[in-house]
Parts: sequence; C-alpha cells; structure tokens
Amino acid sequence: MIDYRAARLRMIEYQIARRGMTDLAVLEAMSAVPREEFVPLQLRDHAHEDTALPIAHGQTISQPYIVALMAQAAELRAGDTVLEIGTGSGYAAAVMAEIAGRVVTIERIDTLAEAARARLQRLGYTNVEVISGDGTAGCDRHAPFDAILSAAGTRKVPRAWKQQLATGGRLILPLGPLGDQQLVKITRLGENAYSQSALVGVRFVPLIAGLG
Ligand code: SAH
Repeated sequence: MIDYRAARLRMIEYQIARRGMTDLAVLEAMSAVPREEFVPLQLRDHAHEDTALPIAHGQTISQPYIVALMAQAAELRAGDTVLEIGTGSGYAAAVMAEIAGRVVTIERIDTLAEAARARLQRLGYTNVEVISGDGTAGCDRHAPFDAILSAAGTRKVPRAWKQQLATGGRLILPLGPLGDQQLVKITRLGENAYSQSALVGVRFVPLIAGLG
C-alpha cells in the first residue's frame, strides 16, 4: 500500500503549484482532501496521478489540476455559498467545502449522488448538500451563489446559472461542442451585465439536460 499523504503532497507540488497555481487556499484545501477515498477501490493507488479517472456509470473524477484551476478561477472565499453541477464522486465539492461556507452540489445519477452523500458525511463534510436531479435549472432555493462551477460541458450557458449568480459572482463552466470545449469564466457585474473570458481547452463529460 502506498503512502497516500505523501502522494497527495507530491501531486500538489508537481501537478499544481509548479504549473503556476498560487492560490494558497486552494493548495491547502487540496492537501486536506484524501483523494483516494473518492475513487473506486481498485484505483486507489492511482488516485493522485495527473489524470481524470473513471468512477461509475461512465463518469469520471476530474484531473486534480483541473479541480484546482476551477477552484482558483472561482476565487472562493470563506463564507461563500457555492453551487456545483455534477457531483460525481464528490471530490471537487469536498475541495470547495474546505474553503467556502457552504456547497450545494447536484448530480443527475441517483446512485452517484447517494454514494457521494454517504462519502462526504463519513469524511465529516457537514457543509455540503448533495441533491439528486438535473442541475440545468440550478437551485433557486439556495440562490444567489457567490460561485457556480459545472463539471459537465454544454454548448450554451444555461440561463438559470447566470440568473442565480450574486452580483460579483463567478460562473466557471466547460463551454462548446464535445472535442472543442473551453473552460470559461463568466462574472456577473450587475443586474444584466456579465463579463466572459476563456481560460483553457478542456475535455469534460456532457451536461445531460431534461432527462430527469
Ligand atoms: N466533480 C466531479 C466530476 C464529475 S463528472 C468529481 O469531482 O468527481 C460530471 C458529472 O456531471 C457526472 O457525474 C454526470 O452524471 C453529471 N451530470 C451530467 N449532466 C448533469 C445534469 N444535467 N445535472 C446534474 N449532474 C449532471
């Protein structure tokens, strides 16, 4: 069995810090979350590799670097309320919950949502709420959000996500057709004013909308 803590610190140094990620809160959050707990048992020893890994139902846990990049772009602060679309394993939600005040995360595959809920509870994350369902409409009940992050790619920005951003809030999402997605950051500047910039080319699973 490998030393997971040592693997985690190496992951942070080589894959994240040395690639220019300087947000201390993000680096500390990632060193606090045991990534091996979020992957299937047989992949535990690979949990800290520089790649996305399969979880269940054809879904993936995102590459550590991408989780860090998204968290840094979201400019998370203590006390923030965050919405994530695409809980998957719950790993990114845990990283964000280390920084923010509260994380609401939505997953459309019930068994993944249930597993993530149980895992996050077991690991002591009391500030994460996992909701089963389609996240395309966001979560009106907990809006507005200081940050919204999508772990599933879409060709068009769902209108609800922009509407549920607080003024000054940041929306980070993979945008564009499969095979040509960009990680995009949208900042809400005012009631009807948004700025948008592309960060990097990415490859995410598609947002499956409207299928219940
Ligand atoms: N953040 C995850 C990565 C999950 S991959 C992690 O850290 O492990 C993206 C997830 O988005 C998949 O689990 C997929 O089922 C989910 N998804 C796709 N479309 C969705 C939708 N419309 N609503 C909610 N979740 C969705």
